[in-house]
Amino acid sequence: MQRFKLIKRLLGLVKSFKTVIILAVINGIIGNLCSIIISTIASFTLIKFLGYPISLSYVTLFALMIFLGCFRGVLRYFEQYSNHYIAFKILGHIRHIIFEKLRILGVAKIETKEKGALTNQITSDVETLEVFYAHTISPCLIALFVNGGLFLYISLFINLYLGLIILAFYLIVGVILPVIFYRVNQKQGLEYRNELAAFNAYYLDSIAGRKDIRYTNSASSFINEIKAKTSDLHHFTRRNIKLVANTRGIVNAFIILGSIVILMVSSILIQNNLINPLLVIVALITYLSSFGPVNALAALPSNLNQTFASAKRLFAILDEKPLVKENKNDNTFDFEKLECNNVSFAYDNRLILNNLSLTVNKQEFIGIVGPSGIGKSTLLKLIMNFYPYQGEIKFNGIELKDIDHNSLYQNISMFSQHTYLFNDTIRNNLLIANNNATDDEIKEALRKVSLLDFVNNLEKGLDTVIKEDSTNISLGEKQRLGLARVFLRKPKLLLLDEPTSNIDSLNELLILKSLKDHKNEMTIIMISHKKSTLSIADKIYTFKDGMLSD
Ligand code: ATP
Repeated sequence: MQRFKLIKRLLGLVKSFKTVIILAVINGIIGNLCSIIISTIASFTLIKFLGYPISLSYVTLFALMIFLGCFRGVLRYFEQYSNHYIAFKILGHIRHIIFEKLRILGVAKIETKEKGALTNQITSDVETLEVFYAHTISPCLIALFVNGGLFLYISLFINLYLGLIILAFYLIVGVILPVIFYRVNQKQGLEYRNELAAFNAYYLDSIAGRKDIRYTNSASSFINEIKAKTSDLHHFTRRNIKLVANTRGIVNAFIILGSIVILMVSSILIQNNLINPLLVIVALITYLSSFGPVNALAALPSNLNQTFASAKRLFAILDEKPLVKENKNDNTFDFEKLECNNVSFAYDNRLILNNLSLTVNKQEFIGIVGPSGIGKSTLLKLIMNFYPYQGEIKFNGIELKDIDHNSLYQNISMFSQHTYLFNDTIRNNLLIANNNATDDEIKEALRKVSLLDFVNNLEKGLDTVIKEDSTNISLGEKQRLGLARVFLRKPKLLLLDEPTSNIDSLNELLILKSLKDHKNEMTIIMISHKKSTLSIADKIYTFKDGMLSD
């Protein structure tokens, strides 16, 4: 039952591609019929040669076969093209809805997920669905029409008994065996998929942490672990290959068994003068050449098990409830005042904020100091509406819970110690903060963070590409590019989460200087575990026991 729901949901995603699917199926039906008809014409040519009266000349029969062969080639191309067109369009659509869902789930939810597992889900799990969309939907429909049609043709024009035998073997190979294979190997497919997902997650995690692995000289233990996991995975892969081989063997055995049964029944029919012996040749050749579409179904179970396992994991993300609701309403605001009144918050029953209160007015620069792990970042995350809380957080007197989501993020921005730069040009990395910024505005932002000379001296200037993992710039430059984004974005309220904690004192000084020089352009709340960093703030609060004190 659960499986049917899953299939229904997967099919639901292709509703808008109905026309292309119908075209692909029609294409496939005509194409497969062409192949079968070629064999049938060949058998007619043979029985004509053996004396059966056929009005068409040999030339016509050969010409028909050549024409159908070429036509089949063209149709095959379009069939493959349309199936893959649908599949990749749908995969693109699924990726889009997953990204949209991750956006709605919010940063807080994503933070709690294993990054490797998440990457695996939005890459390889989505890819696995290709099997369903490109190799399942249309083959099922094609088999239904082509083999259904052949059953009728043989029953009506050759012999009903032979037609029924052929139908029985179509059902065995195309329905009964795939269902049995699917049931028997369901657990195996799931295990393989989970093992592969765990391996990918571990591998990606190890690559992300390669520097730490190097510094701690722990490469050998990681390599050993990867070797162990590879060998586990190898075991599952071998089991899968064995399954595919067994499946093919059993399927082919049944197809041959079918032809033996046809010959045995035909001999009885011939003895009773119920069929012309030459037509048995036509029936047999048609039968043997007609398993293309049904064979495609027989090969599905091993792949489908994995596809359903992937689909289940992807739908689990889509069904996940966001921690906070995303509001779309008229409660927009232009930042004047932030009030936190008796705010309390706990992670898994561990109280972090305990009746905390704070008021921040427009143009103020507030500093919050406190030791590591006390809850400073959590306070900023609550102000960003990442988590539900108790008490009140209000912007201009409007409860955060009721504020329009877009309006909130138009007013506030957060800048932390981890700036992420994309593998793209410096210009494009800055434009994400403000799509409409001109080169002059970008340069002004770079000047504010003392990076203009640095960028001007680069051979390609703003067109310089930041390498993956930002390996071609220093940590301090990276942070200052992050701050340049803030100046381009010009938020009304800026939340600074330890922006200088990872960098050297020269870069810290440069960042603090630019913040000090431009602090009148926005309202700022900055947190740090060092009081000296906060010396540029107008007012400093100390975070202690879940509360703030002067
Ligand atoms: P730091 O300066 O080191 O970043 P902080 O004062 O900003 O520390 P928070 O990041 O707010 O501290 O974390 C407060 C406490 O809550 C820490 O003990 C942390 O381990 C815990 N914590 C943070 N995020 C989560 C989470 N998503 N789930 C559970 N516990 C968390």
